[in-house]
Amino acid sequence: MTQIVRTLAELRLCVNAWKADGETVGVVPTMGALHNGHLSLVVQAVQKADRTIVTLFVNPKQFNNPDDLANYPRTEEGDAAKIDPLGADVLYVPDADQIYGSGFCTNISVAGISDGLCGANRPGHFDGVATVVTKLLLQSQADFAFFGEKDFQQLMLVQRLVKDLDIPTQIVGCPTIRDVDGLAMSSRNANLTPENRKIAAKLNAQMQRAAQKIAEGEDVAIVLKNTISALTTDGFDPVDYVELRSASTLAPMASLTEPARLLAAAFLGDVRLIDNIAVPIPGEDVTSAR
Ligand code: AMP
Repeated sequence: MTQIVRTLAELRLCVNAWKADGETVGVVPTMGALHNGHLSLVVQAVQKADRTIVTLFVNPKQFNNPDDLANYPRTEEGDAAKIDPLGADVLYVPDADQIYGSGFCTNISVAGISDGLCGANRPGHFDGVATVVTKLLLQSQADFAFFGEKDFQQLMLVQRLVKDLDIPTQIVGCPTIRDVDGLAMSSRNANLTPENRKIAAKLNAQMQRAAQKIAEGEDVAIVLKNTISALTTDGFDPVDYVELRSASTLAPMASLTEPARLLAAAFLGDVRLIDNIAVPIPGEDVTSAR
């Protein structure tokens, strides 16, 4: 039975008891409103670690738009019911004061990776992510932490920060889970109107088309520009970015000289959608082209 834990003191009691028995701990940080994408991370955690903690914290520090924070779906009871049958041991639902205690003034900032892409139009977002992830990894003392490739820039940032800060947690990247029409699952999809939900699938479809053209050797800048135009015609407004980046460093790429990632973000109404897919070099392993 998944135990709901709301304080750091309680969490520490659980973790200390597990560690005293020599058990390993996996953590899956989330903001709740769990869907099959989140649940795929929980399944991996339960398989890999002896004990699994799922965290549910809608982190105010990573929201730069107060309406987005206010409208973020909150479904704690349903979330607990979804992870229980998967074998999660603890759902950690800290109040804000368990994460940001009185006088809290530390900020974790990962330079470079936080700039551009989702960092460009969401000032402070990645500092908020880096700070809360650092707290959750230290609070849970996890041996493994599971993050989705859906948030590729975030995954790379977390990998960088555990390396830089010698945090003894292995970061496990997990593939993006999609609806049947290709739309990457996201808690925010619940806020799409039925009409926009139909359009939303075109984001991934246009990206697949663009990735194929780039892999076939078409000019990268032209393909990216045409994809932004096509998405705008489809009804995305605005398109924040469509970019080709190195899959290993996130550096911008003008041509396909190494394995790459095509990343995009675009609005439909008030809902900001993001997606990314692998663009392998032709002839190289394509199993990672999710
Ligand atoms: P969030 O609740 O949106 O902060 O996401 C929590 C974790 O779930 C992050 O590591 C996300 O990358 C991951 N995640 C969200 N959506 C998906 C998805 N469709 N497939 C795989 N992982 C996902």
